[in-house]
Amino acid sequence: MQELIQRLGAVRASIDDAARRAQRDPAAIRLVAVSKTRTEGEIAAAAQAGQRDFGENYLQEALPKIEALLEHNLVWHFIGPIQSNKTRDIATHFDWVHSVSRLKIARRLSDQRPDGAPPLNICLQVNIDGEDSKAGVAPAETLELAREIASLPRLTLRGLMAIPAPADNAARQAAPFAALRRLTEDCRHHGLTMDTLSMGMSGDLDAAVAEGSTMVRVGTAIFGPRPVKTGETH
Ligand SMILES: *Cc1c(COP(=O)(O)O)cnc(C)c1O
Repeated sequence: MQELIQRLGAVRASIDDAARRAQRDPAAIRLVAVSKTRTEGEIAAAAQAGQRDFGENYLQEALPKIEALLEHNLVWHFIGPIQSNKTRDIATHFDWVHSVSRLKIARRLSDQRPDGAPPLNICLQVNIDGEDSKAGVAPAETLELAREIASLPRLTLRGLMAIPAPADNAARQAAPFAALRRLTEDCRHHGLTMDTLSMGMSGDLDAAVAEGSTMVRVGTAIFGPRPVKTGETH
């Protein structure tokens, strides 16, 4: 656990360094610790070290952890694929959803968000590099979907999210992040309010921060290598 706390500190420090190099305020970049496959104990240790935001991909795995860690008052981000029959639990137990790419799913999340809860924070997942097999709305369809989602009553549209194909050098990593930032700017020019760019993971943090990320989703660099799980796509 000591190691985990050191790695968490090192990740925060490298985000802060990347921000300074890009002449950005480090406080403008929020760290979401991606805790898929991790135990309650590991999450609690990170929480005790001051980490508040956690991301989960698999609903079945997340629900017992959220329940067990209620007293820590954590902020939960759903970042995985969304099936229609899972929207009620997601709308009930999460604070953010980063992986919305269909209006039908957004409508269900809005309808099913419990009365009395604050609006659910939403990022649209964009298939920024246009890979055929990949989840996300096409860049050319993003503005229209964003407009429709912004009008749903129990949701707050916060911004865009992307998971670009892995690239091994900084310039290749930067291109899709820059494209996502420009798409956000385009949505803003059309009158939409967006304050979030959810981009950057363990392997491409620096490039994402340099291109304007406000939320990085980091698993491996905090918790160590994940056990390989069938069905996982990255
Ligand atoms: C697993 C995952 C991450 C974290 O990936 P690491 O490479 O472990 O940092 C970030 N975002 C999404 C959507 C993920 O599924």
